[in-house]
Amino acid sequence: MRVGRNDPCPCGSGRKYKRCHVAEDEAKARSAAPTRLVEHAGEVFGVSGDVDPGVLDLAADHFRAKREGRGPAQQMVDFIQPVLDATDGSLDATNRAMQLGTLWWNLALLPEVKRAGALEEFLALLPADEAVRDDLRKTTKQMIVRHEAMFPELHRRHA
Ligand SMILES: [Zn+2]
Repeated sequence: MRVGRNDPCPCGSGRKYKRCHVAEDEAKARSAAPTRLVEHAGEVFGVSGDVDPGVLDLAADHFRAKREGRGPAQQMVDFIQPVLDATDGSLDATNRAMQLGTLWWNLALLPEVKRAGALEEFLALLPADEAVRDDLRKTTKQMIVRHEAMFPELHRRHA
C-alpha cells in the first residue's frame, strides 16, 4: 500500500503523511536498503544508502586509530606471537617469552651500534651454555628485523 505525501497519515493522527510519519518510514526504508561495500581511505565499509564522504573520512580515522591504538601489552603479544606459538602454552614458557619480548623490544629501540653490546650484557647474566646463547643471538637479530617491520613509526628517528 502506497501512501501519498498529502494523504492522511496511516497512523490515524489526522495529519498529512508528509507532516507525520514520512521521515520515519523513509529512514526505515533506507536502513533496509541492500548493503554495499565502499572502499575509502584504505578501509572497506559496508554502507547502505548515500553516505557523505566526510562521514567515511571520520570512520576511516576511527578504525585506523583503534588499530594503531592497540595497547602496549597487545602490541607486545602481537610482536612475540611466533615465539608464543612455539611454546607449550605453560605459564612459565609464556613468561619467558614475554621477558625475551621485552628484551628484544628494548634492543630494537636502541641505536643499531648499541644493540650487540646490550645483548652481550644480557647474555653474560644468563645461566646458559654457548649454544643457547648463540641461538638467542640469531633469534634476536630476527626479532629486531620483525620489530622494525611491525612498528616502523618507532624507527623513523633512527633512519
Ligand atoms: Zn503518522
